[in-house]
Amino acid sequence: MAGNWKMYKTPAETQTFFEKFRPLVEKSEHCEIVICPPFTNLAAAVDAAKGSPIQVGAQNVAWAKEGAFTGEISGPMLKAVGASHAIISHSERRQYFGETDETVLKRTQAALEFGLTPIVCVGERLEERESGNTETVLVSQFQKGIAGLSEQQFAKIVIAYEPVWAIGTGKTATPEIAADAHKVIRAQVREKFGKDAADAVRILYGGSVKPDNVKSLMAQPDIDGSLVGGAALDPVSFASIVNF
Ligand code: PEP
Repeated sequence: MAGNWKMYKTPAETQTFFEKFRPLVEKSEHCEIVICPPFTNLAAAVDAAKGSPIQVGAQNVAWAKEGAFTGEISGPMLKAVGASHAIISHSERRQYFGETDETVLKRTQAALEFGLTPIVCVGERLEERESGNTETVLVSQFQKGIAGLSEQQFAKIVIAYEPVWAIGTGKTATPEIAADAHKVIRAQVREKFGKDAADAVRILYGGSVKPDNVKSLMAQPDIDGSLVGGAALDPVSFASIVNF
């Protein structure tokens, strides 16, 4: 269960969040818990999470180790600060910052090279769904952005299905819509990396997950977890999602 804080919270607010959140998930051993704050709060989050089951992730990672890449943060930098995960190809990165399937693959490979677990996002836009192209889009994002990994690399990634029309809109995909998309993605995994990889990979659903809809989403056998935006900013609501 991963929380994406997007561009919210200061280090002081991060500390306050963890003070309230930690006791609520101290005994939550049924899943991994990851919080992905802005880069500037990673150190505060790692510090506040020490001794708890909560892991800390970034919201992006550079494809290079270091160099002239103004505004980017590299895998070794994230590892050095204590991050364990990195979200890659969130639809907001695709929409506003020119992320492409090609850069997604490069970032994913870099994350793996430097020991971070990539959470690789895929998902269709509203017009793509309405024109009946959901499956085509998911297959294309998978083939161009994920299928370029080796079997060993693939075994270490987490996939997040995030229909763009459901992100931050309050419009959650119904459990059936989400499950259908997860099936498409898992079938791609099976075709490319084999049955064992398809059974093992964790596919998270993201898009307006809230305490009151998480249970029905998680009841779908192909949904293995959630990537949560808005509801992960509040410690009580994210804890109740984690403890669904
Ligand atoms: C997200 O940012 O990844 C997300 C799913 O946001 P929200 O839960 O607010 O829709």
